[in-house]
Amino acid sequence: MSRPTQALISQGALLHNLQVVRASAPRSRVMAVVKADAYGHGAVRVAGILEAAGVDALAVASLEEALQLRESGISAPVFILEGPFTPDEIPAAAQHRLGLVLHSFEQLAWLSRAELESDIEVFLKLDSGMHRLGFAPCDLPGALDSLRACPGVHLCGLMSHLARADEPENRYNNHQLETFSQTFEQLADQGLERSLAASAAILRSPDTHLDWVRPGLMLYGMSPFAEVFGPALGLVPVLQLRSALMTVRELKPGDWLGYGAAFQADRRMRVGVVAIGYGDGYPRQLGNGTPVLVGGRRSRLLGRVSMDMLFVDLSELPTAKPGDEVMLMGRQGTEQVTVDELALLAGTIPYELTCRIQGRVPRILE
Ligand code: PLP
Repeated sequence: MSRPTQALISQGALLHNLQVVRASAPRSRVMAVVKADAYGHGAVRVAGILEAAGVDALAVASLEEALQLRESGISAPVFILEGPFTPDEIPAAAQHRLGLVLHSFEQLAWLSRAELESDIEVFLKLDSGMHRLGFAPCDLPGALDSLRACPGVHLCGLMSHLARADEPENRYNNHQLETFSQTFEQLADQGLERSLAASAAILRSPDTHLDWVRPGLMLYGMSPFAEVFGPALGLVPVLQLRSALMTVRELKPGDWLGYGAAFQADRRMRVGVVAIGYGDGYPRQLGNGTPVLVGGRRSRLLGRVSMDMLFVDLSELPTAKPGDEVMLMGRQGTEQVTVDELALLAGTIPYELTCRIQGRVPRILE
């Protein structure tokens, strides 16, 4: 038997979630975020589905990610959200019609010296309060002046990012929106567009939708809010991570299981060994007690997660046998284990869990 560990990627779920984005922000254009290999889902396929569904633009994190899309035949507008990019990458960006998001005077100086074969579209990034990247509001007029000295560079608009959008009631969101709006008003005569909202703000802060929204996480069916899972927001998880039982073992009362002897049987037990581990990207901080689906039922992991294997409790599943499917993230029958739920248990965010799924796990499009 070849390794049964697979990530199933659902086209239907992706299209459903795109519909939720459009219904949530009906007056905004959609720049779908497919950086980090579409949050581990496989950027080329995801971008192809989204392009066919008519998204207005795609966004990635680097020239390399953008070129991967172009090489696979994606022709939709692509923006490189944060870079970093180097001066010698600018001609390739222009040649492949890749837009840039500029955040420093140094980048503007590179652009002014670049020899471009074709025009290039850019957004200016405003630091409205996250203090990660972007021009301070007081520097924006100077940045616009510098841009005018860049032949062939077309300014699309102003972009910023919210630091606390996952806490919609937090006043810091108002502060950032006000800073963004006031700065924009000073430039209003330039016919520029505005982009502020990512998933959390798309779902909960309609004031921030403006001209362009930039959904990532919600497109993949996961929730940006701690303790509210994607399905409760009307989203359908796009990725399911599954494997299979390699073998079934009997434990006697008192037997220890796996590395660190982290589980001890208190009765006779059936235990399944599953062909997936942290070498596939399943979080090692999960283990004893984590929910998992076998035979259409919710069961639990036992002991520690190894690199290529983990243990599942089959005590309630007397007929389970080698080869049976084990669903680590996803659905079996009416039962579901979401990435959101696992992220909460692992003390992280769902973004990290799907990004972690390794290249050795084939992505199967359904
Ligand atoms: N815009 C920017 C600048 C980002 O960095 C990200 C994600 O990291 C997004 C949009 C998408 O955010 P989300 O996945 O929360 O929708």
